[in-house]
Amino acid sequence: MAPRTCGSCAGGCVTSCCTIMGVKELDKPNGERCPKMASDGTCSIYAERPAACREWECVWLRAEDVLRNMDRPDRSGVILDVTNPPPDAVIPQSIVARETRPGAFGEDAAKKLLAYFQKRSLVILVGPGKRTVTGPPEMIKEMIKRRRAADRLVAEAATASDPSTPSEGERS
Ligand code: SF4
Ligand code: SF4
Repeated sequence: MAPRTCGSCAGGCVTSCCTIMGVKELDKPNGERCPKMASDGTCSIYAERPAACREWECVWLRAEDVLRNMDRPDRSGVILDVTNPPPDAVIPQSIVARETRPGAFGEDAAKKLLAYFQKRSLVILVGPGKRTVTGPPEMIKEMIKRRRAADRLVAEAATASDPSTPSEGERS
């Protein structure tokens, strides 16, 4: 079977993949509008776009065995990516979900799609000015545990570097 292709989703590409993906050649972080995006939403350097843009694929494009044709980002209203954090990161490898049209997270198709992943993985729902981490309770608990441990380390480091904090010898 031929691999999946973007098809007509590519027309909405700039509002979905061009925002969600990071492009290191352009110093463009994940989730920010690309500086090469023209005012009509198309890519102003499409023919010469960086390798990162040519190679990036959303989860729908990669997971043909899991996601249905109707889950394509322009149809479902949701674009999915996978994070690749270091093993000791507070939030382990997760699915990142963004709307490709406003309000899509509230639609039935998107809810079903997200529920599939939320049963198996942490899913970070990204909206305007807001990120919500969802997922199986045991994964959320583990994330909170890691967050607390990281906060404790930061607090300990701050105390250790504070010159007004007495050292062990000074306390006695
Ligand atoms: S969101 Fe996915 S399917 Fe749509 S254009 Fe981008 S990579 Fe292709
Ligand atoms: S360079 Fe073009 S293809 Fe790449 S992210 Fe920017 S607008 Fe999209």
